Amino acid sequence: MENTVQFAEIIVDINARSVDRVFHYAVPAELKGQVKPGVRVLVPFGKRRLAGYVLGFGYPQQDIKVREIAGIIDREPVLTEELLEVALWMAKNYLCSTAEALARIIAPRLGVKATRTIRLLKPAFPAGKSQEVLNRLRHAPKQTAVLQQALLNQQLTRKELAAAAQASLSTVDTLVRAGLLETEISHLPNCREESGAVHVGDSATRLNTDQAKAVRKISQTLTEQRFGVFLLYGVTGSGKTEVYLNAISSALAMGRQAVTMVPEISLTPQMIALFRARFGSQVAVLHSGLSGRERYKEWCRVKEGRAPVVLGTRSAVFAPLPAPGLFILDEEHEPSYKQDARLRYHAREVAIKRAHLAGAAVILGSATPSLESWFRAGSGGLYKLLRLPHRINKKPLPQVSVIDIRKEMKDGNQGIFSRRLVTAISDRLKKGQQTILFLNRRGYANFLMCRECGHVIKCNHCDISLTYHQGGVLRCHYCNYSVRRPSICPYCGSRYIHPFGAGTQKVEKEASQLFPTARILRMDSDTTAHKGAHEKIINAFKQGKADILIGTQMIAKGLNLPAVTLVGVINADTSLFMPDFRAAERTFQLLTQVAGRTGRGQLPGEVLIQTYNPEHYSITAAARHDVEGFYSVELPLRKSMHYPPFSYLARLLFTHADEVEISKGTILAKETLDKILVGYDNFIEILGPAPAPLSRIRGHFRLQIVIKGHHRRDLRDIIGQCLDYLQKLRPAFKPAINVDINPQGMQ
Ligand code: ADP
Ligand code: ZN
Ligand code: ZN
Repeated sequence: MENTVQFAEIIVDINARSVDRVFHYAVPAELKGQVKPGVRVLVPFGKRRLAGYVLGFGYPQQDIKVREIAGIIDREPVLTEELLEVALWMAKNYLCSTAEALARIIAPRLGVKATRTIRLLKPAFPAGKSQEVLNRLRHAPKQTAVLQQALLNQQLTRKELAAAAQASLSTVDTLVRAGLLETEISHLPNCREESGAVHVGDSATRLNTDQAKAVRKISQTLTEQRFGVFLLYGVTGSGKTEVYLNAISSALAMGRQAVTMVPEISLTPQMIALFRARFGSQVAVLHSGLSGRERYKEWCRVKEGRAPVVLGTRSAVFAPLPAPGLFILDEEHEPSYKQDARLRYHAREVAIKRAHLAGAAVILGSATPSLESWFRAGSGGLYKLLRLPHRINKKPLPQVSVIDIRKEMKDGNQGIFSRRLVTAISDRLKKGQQTILFLNRRGYANFLMCRECGHVIKCNHCDISLTYHQGGVLRCHYCNYSVRRPSICPYCGSRYIHPFGAGTQKVEKEASQLFPTARILRMDSDTTAHKGAHEKIINAFKQGKADILIGTQMIAKGLNLPAVTLVGVINADTSLFMPDFRAAERTFQLLTQVAGRTGRGQLPGEVLIQTYNPEHYSITAAARHDVEGFYSVELPLRKSMHYPPFSYLARLLFTHADEVEISKGTILAKETLDKILVGYDNFIEILGPAPAPLSRIRGHFRLQIVIKGHHRRDLRDIIGQCLDYLQKLRPAFKPAINVDINPQGMQ
């Protein structure tokens, strides 16, 4: 047939499971050739006009009345076919709507605000009416010319249209007033600009044997254009960055592009400098700290292949590379790679998916790999393990000592500082050297701890510490087991069993009493609330304007502070007993990282860790710098408890303002899950409902159900069915539900 109608398959931009499917729309003749996969269009939907994403072309079912695409938003596709594929995968994997996934992929760089909007003029009548309208205007040749141009090309602005028709602007305006032309707002101007010169620095550094070996393995995969995931396990200061830079060069040599991610914006300046020195103007930076304009500009440079080296935080994983060759995650174990609001994706998983689709390589770099990655890099695993076992300059790792605070108590020292830590700080003050005091407050650690033996009451079933609630109840927030608070320690019989936790302000106060002449800086979420405060404090400390820096985990990373010769960890227990199955892993990673902060300069460093649990394996392993020793204890424990990496975990978080509604709702959800579960043979466990650790936020109650299973697909199926069922019960079913697959912390 000559005049076949083309049907586009479109995801309409509505974030709802019930309409999360492909809709068919006819492509009007005048838009043929412009409607392409990855382009956004306007479509009629019910009585509304909504944006939609074109996935491809196909045929609708026979009996369905197909409507026409009303207009086009993008001149060029904003999504490659690979990224469209990633969106579909995200929807399936994270149980979000496809529209939400698509919006997430483009939003950070292409939101309405991020771009200059342009107004396009197009005919305001249906294509079939053109002849009739032109007939009516046959005595107005200028207007006819304008209209003909508008029919031919719907991507013209007012000025462009006038120029194309060799008419005046007022002729165009007359047609607008007559209702024959209408304005359409487009959010994607043509982003082409003159390309700057490319400067490329030389790779001055000669790689050592281990680095060279790692680079060779990665380059081989790149050359063969195969999919491969590498775990680059290298101690702090072993030169991982140099491996990244060389691997990126290999990818560029193959005509492909590379994305490098770092866990936090505050780490990017150092990396940017390094990358610019090596790759010059080929580097694009993508992170949420940029203004919409800057981000959009960088996004364009990446999309057009002019900036093949992308550096950024988590969201850079969606960079629109024309031919992705390499994805790098530095400090791959960092929880910040997981977005923990709204669409809860993990940048590591997305990177691996993209690499799989594109036949690209992934490098996961860390001195303390996540248990999951370590396990997958094990014998016969999916990842290839590359090791950098030595520090570059042969600098020794710092001396780490563990201080038993129980003993301080016994000897009558009730303060936050142990005698040994006080002596060590005084010594540094005398010598004019610097000290960092580190207080881990990640998570919400309202647990009960015995001050005499260090015992913390845990859930027998889940092996996480019970959370202490007002009124004296201890509760497991995975399975909801609860007991009354004991008045004596069930382990040693001591009466000194109390809720635990000291804040940075308290540490600061006690420090200034102990060391009245010392200059002290404090860095926590209070003192860094405004923009730039973080850098200010760090810079002041770097310039020697203070003797002691007190801070939370935000000071643990990436800082290179040569004058620091002492790091004191105020108490390791806060992180050790946060109610999370990863508590030991996080503690180990944090302590190892903190230890890596010292002894970077000429002077040797010392680390003192205070704890009520000096024999705990994550503390002893960190003190010995024994990464593999830690895994060899932790892995079997995870296995026995059916925790990742031996299972998959999902959390359903329910929120609602009404206590009765939320309790009714979560019980119903649990019953629904139990019913669905009847058809499954594989190991699956449903825990709760239980209050979330933050059980109430802004008047909203928060309850959670935790699901464990051996197969990710089972979790997906079961939760999907449950959501669909509950959706049908709305509005009688009230609570909002948020799904988190593979949660990295549950607050
Ligand atoms: P990591 O990221 O593994 O902690 P870095 O990449 O920061 O380690 O490297 C530590 C230091 O060693 C850096 O100052 C880096 O420039 C330097 N370095 C890396 N590789 C080499 C090399 N082959 N020869 C000399 N110095 C190197
Ligand atoms: Zn439990
Ligand atoms: Zn005790």
